[in-house]
Amino acid sequence: MASLPWLDRWLLEALWQEDFSDAAHAPIRPEELRSQQWERLRRTMDHARRNSPYYRQHWRHTPKELPHNPEELAAWPRTPSRELCERPESFLAVSQDEVARVVSIPSSGTSGPGKRIFFTPGDLKRIRHFFGRGMRNLVRPGETTLILLPGERPDSVGRLLGDALESFGSRALVAGPLEHPHDTLRQMDEQQVRCIVGSPAHIHVLAAHARFAKPARKPRVRSVLLCWDAAPQALVRSVEQGLDCAVFRHWGMVETGLGGAVECTPGSGMHLREADLYVEIACPHTGRPQPHGQWGEILVTTLTRRAMPLIRYRTGDRGRLLPGPCACGSALQRLDQDVRRLAEDHGNTSHQNGRLLDVADLGDVLYAVHGLADFAASWRRGKSNRPELHIEITTASPPGSTGEQAVLRRSRTALDNAPALRGAGIPLRLRAVGHSGPARPGLDKRVLFPASDFSEEKS
Ligand SMILES: [Zn+2]
Repeated sequence: MASLPWLDRWLLEALWQEDFSDAAHAPIRPEELRSQQWERLRRTMDHARRNSPYYRQHWRHTPKELPHNPEELAAWPRTPSRELCERPESFLAVSQDEVARVVSIPSSGTSGPGKRIFFTPGDLKRIRHFFGRGMRNLVRPGETTLILLPGERPDSVGRLLGDALESFGSRALVAGPLEHPHDTLRQMDEQQVRCIVGSPAHIHVLAAHARFAKPARKPRVRSVLLCWDAAPQALVRSVEQGLDCAVFRHWGMVETGLGGAVECTPGSGMHLREADLYVEIACPHTGRPQPHGQWGEILVTTLTRRAMPLIRYRTGDRGRLLPGPCACGSALQRLDQDVRRLAEDHGNTSHQNGRLLDVADLGDVLYAVHGLADFAASWRRGKSNRPELHIEITTASPPGSTGEQAVLRRSRTALDNAPALRGAGIPLRLRAVGHSGPARPGLDKRVLFPASDFSEEKS
């Protein structure tokens, strides 16, 4: 029997907790997977109802009987993410002694202390296992992967990925979020980096600068994994060209246990981590499941998490499931790669024509501009109190150079012709803010700032 694709091997191991590395085994069938998921989902809901103060309270009016099918589950209330910001400890379903790691996410709004996500040692083990199997698809034993994610603390995402790589004899260089692309490119050359994992914006900055590297210094990267934030199609193409490599997309968040869904091959659609997650696509207003293939909010129910089970958790991300099986033959369903923040969330503000403008609309346009490294966008009040769209770009050319001027001109033309902006009459302020790196420091998700009200113009 031919060896199993990595996704199926991960799935078998994650379901049966055995090592299937050398075993010849038939891939799992979709109906077998669904029945396993359902058993886990009921077990998790039972655990949540008995042990999590939040769900005890949240479900006080729900039926005694746990759901048997998707229709029955759809009648259960969703879990809003703001509840996780306001009282994270009430979600905890094990004693504090059993918690091995807490990830804190500061609140972007005004209420509550911010999200705190708890993991037991078993929860972390499942994350490492998923990462390990997934990374084997991207990098070979003996090769080096550059990880542009935080890795200072034990069990931080960078360290978990590093452990996963080392589990099969690969090497990890955990560098943290990108700051200085030239230093990073030099380090990649010295350490012979063959794979990069990081946020789409940061990897795009590297790719933009790599185009200008001397031939002997060009990175020789084979694969890239874009994670942490949405990756517009124009960005993916630009990274493919700049680094001359295969680009894989990933969707996930701390709440999903970091990993969530990943492409088996570039452009395949992202296979969901269905041994650990049950995903619904629901109408954002009513919570009713959408017909297969339709867009809606991604709701997540964790299937194996002990410390902090989440049931019908509102991710705030908009997505859809792809119809039909993948060419790889896996039973795991796929998310469309084009995941975006929901329209009413995160500063996707309507302009005066009533059309919603999304940061992804700007990404689609700007990442296609040759020589542009990164951008940041925000709404501000102009002189006559009118909202103005301010866009700051970084380029791969020195400040004040003709190269930078050319990128600014190309960006202006591209924005003027963009379907999302054409004829909208939005005053647009565009300027270059240097060439040293990302347009915003750190790993905050790219959104149109501010979310609801307009900030005052800063001089
Ligand atoms: Zn596939």
